[in-house]
Amino acid sequence: MSSQPSTGEATATLVAALDRTLEAVVAKGSARTNQGKDIDSHQPQAERIAYFATEVRTAKYLADYAKGEGASEPHIDDMALLFAAEMVSKAAGQLDAHADDLGIAPSFIDETLATPAVRAAVRAGMSDARVTAIGRHMLETKGVNNSPLEEMASMTRDTVRQFAASEVAPIAEHIHRHDDLVPDSLIAKMGELGFFGMAVPEAYGGGGMGNLVMIVTTEELSAVSLAAAGSLITRPEILTKALLKGGTDQQKAQWLPPIAAGKIMVGVSVTEPDTGSDVASLSCRAEPAERDGKKGWVVNGAKAWCTFAGRANVLALLARTDPNPKLGAKGLSMFIVPKDSFPGHAFEMKQPAGGTLNGKADATPGYRGMHSFTLMFDNYFVPGENLIGEQGGLGKGFYMQMAGFAAGRLQTGGRSTGLAQAALQRTCEYAIDRKQFGKPIGQYGLTQYKLGRMATHIAASRQLTYAAARAVDEDESISLEPAMAKLYSSDVAVWVTQEGQQLHGGWGYAEEFAISRYVVDATVLPIFEGVKPILELKVIARNLLG
Ligand SMILES: Cc1cc2nc3c(=O)[nH]c(=O)nc-3n(C[C@H](O)[C@H](O)[C@H](O)COP(=O)(O)OP(=O)(O)OC[C@H]3O[C@@H](n4cnc5c(N)ncnc54)[C@H](O)[C@@H]3O)c2cc1C
Repeated sequence: MSSQPSTGEATATLVAALDRTLEAVVAKGSARTNQGKDIDSHQPQAERIAYFATEVRTAKYLADYAKGEGASEPHIDDMALLFAAEMVSKAAGQLDAHADDLGIAPSFIDETLATPAVRAAVRAGMSDARVTAIGRHMLETKGVNNSPLEEMASMTRDTVRQFAASEVAPIAEHIHRHDDLVPDSLIAKMGELGFFGMAVPEAYGGGGMGNLVMIVTTEELSAVSLAAAGSLITRPEILTKALLKGGTDQQKAQWLPPIAAGKIMVGVSVTEPDTGSDVASLSCRAEPAERDGKKGWVVNGAKAWCTFAGRANVLALLARTDPNPKLGAKGLSMFIVPKDSFPGHAFEMKQPAGGTLNGKADATPGYRGMHSFTLMFDNYFVPGENLIGEQGGLGKGFYMQMAGFAAGRLQTGGRSTGLAQAALQRTCEYAIDRKQFGKPIGQYGLTQYKLGRMATHIAASRQLTYAAARAVDEDESISLEPAMAKLYSSDVAVWVTQEGQQLHGGWGYAEEFAISRYVVDATVLPIFEGVKPILELKVIARNLLG
């Protein structure tokens, strides 16, 4: 008589099958793309492999968490099994459909993702009874996340959650609806509590608590408002990581303490009206100049989508310092550009000797509170000591920016998880209150099923992001894990907020209900800091297939 495998054993079977499959698929992809050198000739295939690899890692992290640190979390073993089962089921279909493109024999799936043991585990994992039970648990707990965490991160979560409820929640809706600016009083309080310096080394005035604590902070703030709180740490983080990578000791000592204290707000200016993903070909120029006897640079050109550029005290600017277009990324350098802080949706900054910087915010449906500006630099003077790395940093801006982007992507993993978490909680509350056909909609099996899947994907997105944060603590130079965290979590945020909106019915479309804000906020997450195809092709696929 054969006994049924336990939930944990079934999960392990699926994760092992995913792992074996990924290994074979990556080997095929690597050979087909000439060890990643010809990714562009095989883009759809490379994209598929990158996404599959991200899903496999996510399934592994969730499974590890379920049997380790998270073992006491109710239904986490069900979620780990469900998630792995969904990933196997999806991959089996995808790989079968694309077997010719991938160069795998159709029998490959029979031997990996469709063995009798794997298929049985998939059926067990995706059973309606299991998924609806997760959903019912979400309704009982209103979806609140109390996942076990190491002590410092757990204490931080409690503190930030309280802070967000008392300081951010009362203003979040108003800021969104009126497209207001985050108030200085909020920034000052966050600064006092050390929110901006959590991952900044203690030697530079930060808390030195590492990336996990910082990500938990961003997650909790984003659960209350993505733009009016949750994204405030992202820009200082990007500049901090760029400075730590390429700044001189003098520059780190000068800039990091006020950044950590929240005294200096930062805008990050990379994108241009005609140049987005192809960062290496940006054209905004910085040329050597002297003004009032001081050596420095004058900046000329347009920039686009610079979030918080009005309120910011400095812009981390990526500009071309070598006009030779053949140099591409090697002709770019990064500057800390001082400016005055302006409220509102437009500004003009005039320098006494004639340089100007104009900014005008582009109206957006969501992500309101910080405003994203199109900028025009006209002979704008930047002191020589503000070139990051000084003379040694010439031509190295692209690489500093990439270090900054890795930090930004990790941040977006936290931002996405927090936003999706908020959508789950609001939807649970709504499903308990809203009655149709004589009973609360939460009592319908389909509602429970949907909530069960939403909660599972959020748990997966959270563990992927936390794993990425821990990996960055180990090695600041990595790019793969933050890119995966951003890629997957932002998709979860988009899907979960929209699923939550549907469960709100017509009221999900009303501004009066926060879910409508979450939906418009979430759709920006897969776009910035590397739009999805760029993360998939240029970061993840390159890392895996190269
Ligand atoms: C609200 C908001 C805030 C932002 N904040 C900032 C900020 O603070 N600072 C900043 O510098 N930028 C910011 N951005 C800009 C953002 O980073 C860019 O929009 C993003 O990098 C994509 O660039 P793009 O819009 O020019 O799109 P493009 O580069 O034009 O890409 C558009 C599409 O083309 C396709 N594509 C492009 N290249 C390839 C390729 N090689 N292979 C296959 N397909 C390809 C993809 O499908 C891609 O989605 C912000 C954007 C928004 C919307």
